[in-house]
Amino acid sequence: MASLSRWLQRTFQPRLSRQAGQTIAEADHAPQASLLDLLQIIYKEYSAAIKQRKGLLYGSEPWVNNSNFISPIASRLSGEMNQCDASWATSLPQLIETRNFGPYHASFASALLAAGAEHLLQAGSLMEATRLAETAFNRNRFDVWVQRVLLNCRAHLNGDLASIEDTEAWLKTRFCGNPFEKLETTTESQIAVCCPSWLPVVVGSFEEGDVANFSNSEPMNQIRESILDGSFRHCSRIHCPKITQRELPARDDVNIGTYQARTFPRDVVFSHDPSCNLSCPSCRKTLAIVPKSEQDRFDSVSGSLLPLMLNADTVHICGSGDPIASTHFRSLLKSYSVDPRAHRNILLQTNGVLCDQRAWDDLGLAGLVKTVMVSLDAAREETYNYTRRGGDWRRVLKNVQFLCGLKSSGSIDQLYLLFVVQGMNYREMTEFVEMGKLYKADKVIFQAISNWGTYTEAEFAKHNIFSFEHAEHSDFVRMLNNEVFDDPIVDLHGIGIYRRTTGLEEARAVPA
Ligand code: SF4
Ligand code: SF4
Repeated sequence: MASLSRWLQRTFQPRLSRQAGQTIAEADHAPQASLLDLLQIIYKEYSAAIKQRKGLLYGSEPWVNNSNFISPIASRLSGEMNQCDASWATSLPQLIETRNFGPYHASFASALLAAGAEHLLQAGSLMEATRLAETAFNRNRFDVWVQRVLLNCRAHLNGDLASIEDTEAWLKTRFCGNPFEKLETTTESQIAVCCPSWLPVVVGSFEEGDVANFSNSEPMNQIRESILDGSFRHCSRIHCPKITQRELPARDDVNIGTYQARTFPRDVVFSHDPSCNLSCPSCRKTLAIVPKSEQDRFDSVSGSLLPLMLNADTVHICGSGDPIASTHFRSLLKSYSVDPRAHRNILLQTNGVLCDQRAWDDLGLAGLVKTVMVSLDAAREETYNYTRRGGDWRRVLKNVQFLCGLKSSGSIDQLYLLFVVQGMNYREMTEFVEMGKLYKADKVIFQAISNWGTYTEAEFAKHNIFSFEHAEHSDFVRMLNNEVFDDPIVDLHGIGIYRRTTGLEEARAVPA
């Protein structure tokens, strides 16, 4: 233990407070001190750093990131672990199970597991490294550093390092306008400049003042710089569909100066109110309608949200719940619809159950909606009854038919159908594409299931068809190679990478 705690002290010292450093030094002389005790000390510092930044969110730079504290430490942990007990990495999952470090346990544990995976990778244990990296990823799917460790492990296992190099070389030639024109709110009243699952960085809080306060903030400038230098270092190579599906424009074809000169934001996504009439198991454990006090808090900032809506080319409502079930979003939409400057820029994302002619008229949506996106997650009623708990299959299909009519009459421009892929519905993906054609959808979008904290690790493992440890993963990969998914209406979002999966299937057959 003495050599391990000395090593931990040396490794963590630069990032720890003097007091924590001293505690570790004292632990060095305490024979009863365990690795868990030492990690608990480090965790305390880690959680303090997160609170200081008022945020979660994960990236790769000190000013933005939840894991910035742990990831560099964990990297060193991995690199220097050779000096200590080599079995540490493989025993990590059990070790972490024995203690809950605190509210940020999942991200802390995830980064430690990823560090262990890196260590195993360096030691040449590809299968164990990939397993550990998957466990790390399943604990926290949004840490960009953890994602990179996983992709690296998979590439080594598949003998396909060229795929990583290809992506990085491709990104060097590309540009993305989102950080120059997009604003997304979060349930913590934070502001991000892209989908926070793809680019998990906070640039400010919408309760703290006007947009100018953060449109030139350091995080904002650093994110933009990462696009301009072609590193895209805060962007997810797993979740961002523009990267996984190679959809970013070539930088030579873009007039970057016009993006830099534009009024910000052009593209607004409201995801701050989680109220919803359903409680889908993949999203939440129980029905969540925010209390009156929260609604009032949201309503109190409506005055600063309305100008954003009026100036934007697209206003996406909402990415957090259901806009028609949310009292706050209903009131925001009504206020918008009576403003003479309101124009056709709404993208309505809904579970569809309440989206009928009555709601359309009540909210004054006629002429203001460009696109409606309906999340269904099933092509059959019995599956829908599970995936969309509290929904009504017949009612939702009737409403999709109503929306299809709006599309045919030109009242809306586009209709999208959405499907969160998981163990119990992946076999219906091909039927869902047919359903999309039936309702004249412009897109059917497939997204991977995520664990938003509603599942235990064991429960999530049953749903996580994307893990090569899942008993039906190979069936899923084979099904995904069906040519129906080549149809132009299909958007495979972040799951397109699984169409390329090769060696992982064989690896499953190799005994651990
Ligand atoms: S590349 Fe992807 S993650 Fe990065 S800013 Fe663009 S859309 Fe967001
Ligand atoms: S409909 Fe959407 S927001 Fe509502 S519970 Fe289901 S997944 Fe969550």
